[in-house]
Amino acid sequence: MKIGSKIIRLEEVDSTNEYSMRIAPEVPEGTVVVAGRQTAGKGRKNRSWASPEGGLWMSVILRPRRVDPRLVFVGALAVVDTLSDFGVASAIKWPNDVWAGGKKIAGVLTEGKAGQYAVLGIGLNVNNTVPEEPEAISMMELVGAKVPLEKVLERLLFHLDGWYRVFTERPELMMAKVRERTFILGRMVRVIQDDNELIGRALDVLDDGSLLVDVSGQLKRVVYGDVSLRLF
Ligand code: ADP
Repeated sequence: MKIGSKIIRLEEVDSTNEYSMRIAPEVPEGTVVVAGRQTAGKGRKNRSWASPEGGLWMSVILRPRRVDPRLVFVGALAVVDTLSDFGVASAIKWPNDVWAGGKKIAGVLTEGKAGQYAVLGIGLNVNNTVPEEPEAISMMELVGAKVPLEKVLERLLFHLDGWYRVFTERPELMMAKVRERTFILGRMVRVIQDDNELIGRALDVLDDGSLLVDVSGQLKRVVYGDVSLRLF
């Protein structure tokens, strides 16, 4: 199985993740869905993801052997490596974002149906701007020129394929890289989950993908889920 051996290109779609979940039962593993724009791009918990023309909005359909929340890191690492190919330094903001130049350049959203398929969605700001989001930034803004979108997709698929293999065969190796690429370690963070909030120093990303936080001397393990993280 190779990620991207089949690519479905759409001018416009509600959400590449939603579309992928609709077609997942009928397409080969590794099928990629790319859209010029999303009319209902989503973040987690039905937050919306701005997806105007010029960005890279894509999802890949996978059939992992079991449900593993660490799949999200396949996307995050692939984005970091892709950005590096274009001279853009970036790092992971645990659990599902990639930041560059002190702002959010990409988000990863994993969804799926246990035992059947998983969809790994990536939204990467390339030649678009996101004026309504003060914390957003794009490759174009960082590079100072338009970036060839097709080349970005090509590099992203290459890195996704590579990291998916590592995730499948040696997840602990992937997690070592995640730790290295996570920029929040050592910093004070606010972890928000439903009505719960926790403030402490992010210490480590553990092999199971959870974040270890020091809350006034007490170590807390925050598992990946619908948690949001804010920096101080
Ligand atoms: P959070 O980062 O708040 O935990 P998500 O990871 O689900 O939430 O991402 C959704 C959030 O990302 C939105 O609520 C919005 O603030 C922000 N956002 C939406 N579109 C973009 C975009 N194209 N680039 C960067 N940030 C965006």
